[in-house]
Amino acid sequence: MAAPPPQAHDYALERVEKVRLRHLLHRLQPAGASLLILLGVLSSSWGEQGAPCPTPGLALAGLTILICRVAIFDLRLFGDRCPPASLSCFQTPRRISYDEAVVGEFRPAEVGESFGPTWETCWFKVELSIPLAWAGREVHFVWESDGEAMVWRDAQPVQGLTKEGEKTSYILTSSLKESEPHSLTLYVELACNGLFGAGKGSMIAPPDPDRRVTLNKAELVIFNRDVYELLVDLEILLDMARLLGEENQRSFQALYTANQMVNVCDVTDPSTFPAARDLAAAIFSQRNGESQHTIHAMGHCHIDSAWLWPYEETIRKCARSWVTVVRLMERNPELTFACSQAQQFEWVRSWYPGLYAQILDFVAKGQFIPVGGTWVEMDGNLPSGESMVRQFLQGQQFFQEQFGRICTEFWLPDTFGYSAQLPQLMRGCGIQRFLTQKLSWNLVNTFPYHTFFWEGIDGSRVLTHFPPGDSYGMHGLVEEVLKTVKNNKDKGCVNHSAFLFGFGDGGGGPTQKMLDRMKRMSDTDGLPRVQISTPDQLFSVLEKESSQLCTWVGELFLELHNGTYTTQAQIKKGNRECERILHDVEVLSTLAVAQDSVFQYPASQLQRLWRLLLLNQFHDVLPGSCIQLVVEDALQYYTEIRRIGAELQEEAVQSLCRDLLQPKAGSTESTLVLNTLPWERTEVISRPGPDGTETLALVTVPSMGYALVREPLLPSQPVSVRKQVDGSITMENGVIAVCLDMMGHLTSLRLLDSERESVPEGCYANQFALFDDVPLYWDAWDVMDYHLETRKPVTTLLKPLEITLAGGLRGSVRFSLQVGKSSTLTQEIILDATCPYLRFLTQVEWKEAHKFLKVEFPVQVRSTDATYEIQFGHVQRPTHWNTSWDWARFEVWAHKWMDLSEHGFGVALLNDCKYGASAHRNVLSLSLLRAPKSPDSTADIGHHQFTYAVMPHRGSFQEAGVIQRAYNLNFPLYAVPASSAQCPAWSAFSVSSPAIVLETVKQAEGRPEAVVVRLYEAYGSTVTAWLQTSLPVKEAMLCDLLERPAAQGTLPLGQQGLRLSFTPFCVLSVLLVLSQ
Ligand SMILES: [Zn+2]
Repeated sequence: MAAPPPQAHDYALERVEKVRLRHLLHRLQPAGASLLILLGVLSSSWGEQGAPCPTPGLALAGLTILICRVAIFDLRLFGDRCPPASLSCFQTPRRISYDEAVVGEFRPAEVGESFGPTWETCWFKVELSIPLAWAGREVHFVWESDGEAMVWRDAQPVQGLTKEGEKTSYILTSSLKESEPHSLTLYVELACNGLFGAGKGSMIAPPDPDRRVTLNKAELVIFNRDVYELLVDLEILLDMARLLGEENQRSFQALYTANQMVNVCDVTDPSTFPAARDLAAAIFSQRNGESQHTIHAMGHCHIDSAWLWPYEETIRKCARSWVTVVRLMERNPELTFACSQAQQFEWVRSWYPGLYAQILDFVAKGQFIPVGGTWVEMDGNLPSGESMVRQFLQGQQFFQEQFGRICTEFWLPDTFGYSAQLPQLMRGCGIQRFLTQKLSWNLVNTFPYHTFFWEGIDGSRVLTHFPPGDSYGMHGLVEEVLKTVKNNKDKGCVNHSAFLFGFGDGGGGPTQKMLDRMKRMSDTDGLPRVQISTPDQLFSVLEKESSQLCTWVGELFLELHNGTYTTQAQIKKGNRECERILHDVEVLSTLAVAQDSVFQYPASQLQRLWRLLLLNQFHDVLPGSCIQLVVEDALQYYTEIRRIGAELQEEAVQSLCRDLLQPKAGSTESTLVLNTLPWERTEVISRPGPDGTETLALVTVPSMGYALVREPLLPSQPVSVRKQVDGSITMENGVIAVCLDMMGHLTSLRLLDSERESVPEGCYANQFALFDDVPLYWDAWDVMDYHLETRKPVTTLLKPLEITLAGGLRGSVRFSLQVGKSSTLTQEIILDATCPYLRFLTQVEWKEAHKFLKVEFPVQVRSTDATYEIQFGHVQRPTHWNTSWDWARFEVWAHKWMDLSEHGFGVALLNDCKYGASAHRNVLSLSLLRAPKSPDSTADIGHHQFTYAVMPHRGSFQEAGVIQRAYNLNFPLYAVPASSAQCPAWSAFSVSSPAIVLETVKQAEGRPEAVVVRLYEAYGSTVTAWLQTSLPVKEAMLCDLLERPAAQGTLPLGQQGLRLSFTPFCVLSVLLVLSQ
């Protein structure tokens, strides 16, 4: 069979392109010079005049560029122009209010002037006088600069103008009436930074401190709406012609329609435009069949709460972006806008109340749609389980209070991986739907689904959708809607997809042009249906079609950005410490209230501190992918949480134990030791003595309670520390015995009761290794697999191992190493009496560039899987690299512990502030420090202190108590001088099963008479446990994570306490109403 003649399509394209479109351009251009430029581009695309076109696709691409240029250069879009009557400005280093700005000292300014340096703000006063002759015309105030601007009118923000976000016009009137004011004053607040900050040379480079922004345009213009509409018609038609393909007759129809439009259109005579537009409308209104895919388009504007700009600038970004959305909604009542992050709403509420009131109106109309349910779009890996709960609790509370409803979908399009515990937490917070897209960034494997059920470690499932266009910043282009369908892996099961349009990351949001493009594609044969929709409409229809969907079990691991588990170690440490501080303040304050009704639970202070911590968990802050200014802000927030947290803890302890504590500092008779964890602990503590001296003491403290210690316990076996003739040192405490060489290597680690050696013959554990760490592009984010090929063991000894504590209750040794060219590391290795793990208190002076420091523990354990703690549970990941899915996880994350076990024996590695980890074959590695240079050239340079510990164990990690020991390492016992000689130990809560962790004890939100306790099953087992409490509980009921009582009513209160049933990794919250 003969192939169809190929010439036909080519000929048609050539004919239209060469002849008609030249013709069109001739007629659309008013100015000869500009036309010549365009014709130059035209000829370069088409070759010599009259020469045959190389390929139709290329020619059409050239054509599209031209059409776009017509729009961008405003050759016909804008008619007459008129400069401002006056333009004046003043500059300020601070972000000031409108009220403060308008009384500033303005000096004359000019278009063409530049302003700076970076992060300063320039306020302009613009007097405008619209010519009378412009009656009946659409008049815009055009403002073009490379900084982000906000237009203020009558003391209110009215329009965000950002050239990078394709917003340069503030529409003054769509048809100037005589009655309208022709003279007006606007203020323009110009930030001396772009949409993506001020990176020097590249977007993610550290900000250029001396960048200046130029005011390129400030003028009144007449906007030719009819020309604009024609150009959008042509753009869509030409994209259809270009992209639908030769085999699709719609591409020909689109092309011929464009050609006909050119024929009927005379640009010198606007009365010919409607006829041309009718031709376009005719083809756009040819409908699809019933089977066509439906794209649910929703306006969106991803605003990173801090990233390449500081938090303070984000507040203004929100206002600029959202006021623009409000203006668009006024003109386009069908526009919907999905908007996440309660924190950003709260910022706009407090800084821009007028704008916020308008937003509330559009929320009520269902157009401005709060989504996500969380305080910020947090990192999906590193926050603790309780932090994740609080992201939802603070977020959903805010949405309920402000908008009268909670969100029903979790919205996290841009986070670097998603914990396998999230499905359960979502469901506990009223959410059964989840939208993201970040896994499209996987470097190695393509994720197999776009719409699927995601099942977490406990079995909870949520309906999950990845917009198949792989972006949250669509522009409403034909290309994007076609990709959305083509790329969609589940289009056999579901016929609907999300399409989020609007400039994002630095803010910006949707534009009128995006909307106008999509209006033309609402139901046009050959293109997917594009309907403006809402998350609820999308998920409702996906739910209906969900019967055939596949299920993905376990974490959504992002195969990229794995350096974010380690970068900016001080932020990671701040996060872990502050999570502990807020936990302890809540436990102790709750107990104080129960003991002493006069004590006021610090609810509002805790809310404030939690919100600071949650803010710092934003997905470019906790991961460390932000600029130095953000790091400084974040560390300051942690300092505040530490300071106020310490005060609140002190107040709670004073109230809880008032009778036992010393009336004033002085001679100490005894020590009060508090334990905020839900199990009894016997540990060596440092005991505050008179004159600030400290002595060691072995103490036993009951679960979530306290004990008064007068006579410390004697250990069954003291720690012995011995130096050997070869300079190595052995330490032993009756539980474990270790041998360390002069370099601090662990050459032997024995578990005494099983006589089992943990370190393989000839290997060193506690081996530091330095790697070259040069990612392809995303410096702070990425560690590439090839870094593993550059491993160099750290071998330069500065100070050999020496004994620092000779034993007894505690033995310790110390040594120092040189790391790399100029960094140093000093480590104190500590063994306490009765303790089953060896602690490594580490100090590093870090001065590296593009290096990665890890510590390695080769262990004598064989297992194909290692276990890593995650939020309220753990996951297993392979230790081999069989498949691409396995080796793509060469660097993973964990919380407080990781473990490698075979039957009957294993070794766990615990830590107090690290998250990056890996286990390859039999080597456990903890990632300690990185040294990326972008976007913060000072990242991680300086002093670091952290602790990790190694714990060999018999049996499984569950039976050996690894989970509890890792908590103990992170939640030290709290000792205060006391005056009383005697007092029985007191416990507020205990749980009968070691599989159950009572994680959280807090006052119920808004209910001072009630306490919420949260427990989870930590072993991966089905278990029934009793929760005992000495608090006066009169009523108990299960509640969800938002603290809403469960339907089944009150739980029976027995002698043994509350009987609670758990399935593997189940998280339960219980509301306890106290009888005081
Ligand atoms: Zn982001």
